[in-house]
Amino acid sequence: MPRIVMKFGGTSMAGIERIRHVAGLVKREIESGNQAAVVVSAMAGETDRLVQLCREAASLYDPREYDVVVASGEQVTSGLLAITLQGMGLNAKSYMGWQLPIRASGHAAALIDHIDAEILESVFEQGGIAVIPGFQGVTAAGDLATLGRGGSDTSAVALAAAMKADRCDIYTDVDGVYTTDPRIVPRARKLDMVTYEEMLELASVGAKVLQTRSVGLAMRYNMPLQVLSSFEDLSGTMIVGDDEIEDGLMERNVITGIAHDKNEAMVTLTGLPDRPGTVAAIFAPLAGANINVDMIVQSVPRKGEPSTLTFTVPNASLAHAVAALDEAKEAIGFAELITDTDVVKVSAVGVGMRSNAGIAAKMFQTLGDRGINILAITTSEIKVSVLLPEDYTELAVRVLHTAFGLDAEDAA
Ligand code: ADP
Ligand code: ASP
Ligand code: MG
Repeated sequence: MPRIVMKFGGTSMAGIERIRHVAGLVKREIESGNQAAVVVSAMAGETDRLVQLCREAASLYDPREYDVVVASGEQVTSGLLAITLQGMGLNAKSYMGWQLPIRASGHAAALIDHIDAEILESVFEQGGIAVIPGFQGVTAAGDLATLGRGGSDTSAVALAAAMKADRCDIYTDVDGVYTTDPRIVPRARKLDMVTYEEMLELASVGAKVLQTRSVGLAMRYNMPLQVLSSFEDLSGTMIVGDDEIEDGLMERNVITGIAHDKNEAMVTLTGLPDRPGTVAAIFAPLAGANINVDMIVQSVPRKGEPSTLTFTVPNASLAHAVAALDEAKEAIGFAELITDTDVVKVSAVGVGMRSNAGIAAKMFQTLGDRGINILAITTSEIKVSVLLPEDYTELAVRVLHTAFGLDAEDAA
């Protein structure tokens, strides 16, 4: 019997009417002969509300307690979906992360170590449906842990791997993966297929339709992943291995998609001593505080003169980063610490970049022509990212989308 995981995002779970609709989609899969585990997100906006409450309680909150607060949203929706499915005559039951268990390490961005599929096997044997809250696990100490924002996608894929599912379906509020966020660029085009590698890069630079880690996991386990709408009965986007779309590659654009991420904060340290060990003295305390640094730009005006270092961290880590740097101020020896949260990272991604020079140049030219100033740059084999003032987000994404030939053909 085919086995699937169905994951429903926040908008799909936002209220009893929508949950009823989701229950109908689950029923349809069961009636067509599938075994299904269902992973749910908190209702749209709920996790934001809970995170905000933690921030109001204390700006440097304890991650263990943060997890206790934010994991609650998924507990509510999994119970509600199980009740709704039972009301439709289906044999459904919810299982919290600690009940399966979903073992995880860390807090606030915990990593899944292991999922025990034993309970699920017996649920399926009895023809039942398991409803599982996304985003949560349990630590070795028995504490609640959450997997980072958007983490229900990762819960779903990890569960699919653990129960050896045939497919993992991610139901959301758009009908697939587009060439860019269709809410920003109406001319965005839906992609029928994307490679794991491209999706990984797109997600990591802000295409939040899938959490990056979920794509990495799907790639590792070769788990077919499908992104589709819970609102409309349309075909979605399949995320698959390179070999499965090789035939169509010649026809594809050099650039697969444009993504943006407003969740970056820029930190600048001025008056740094120009000597070995300065950069290490800055990043060691940040690493110690578990802060991910992304873009880095250093400028040394002239040998021996004080230099400036600029880098970005996730917005959510900014307060912790500033605290860690202030504490190490003497050891580093900087003059001033300046922060700016009004920035956006815009990235172009595509495996075609490997064999095509000039992508970065075209990107800089396109932005320059529009008078958009670039604050920082990073590149990888299949990606170019630029940091820009946040006000230019929509304009930058739109002009790059057009410049790289991604606009839908039928767009006006
Ligand atoms: P869910 O609550 O279902 O997990 P998310 O809000 O996390 O949904 O992700 C879906 C959203 O991702 C869409 O509403 C869309 O605005 C955004 N998005 C960003 N980039 C893309 C893209 N390239 N393709 C599709 N959606 C995208
Ligand atoms: N509810 C969590 C969030 O909003 C997890 C998820 O929806 O994937 O980040
Ligand atoms: Mg999501």
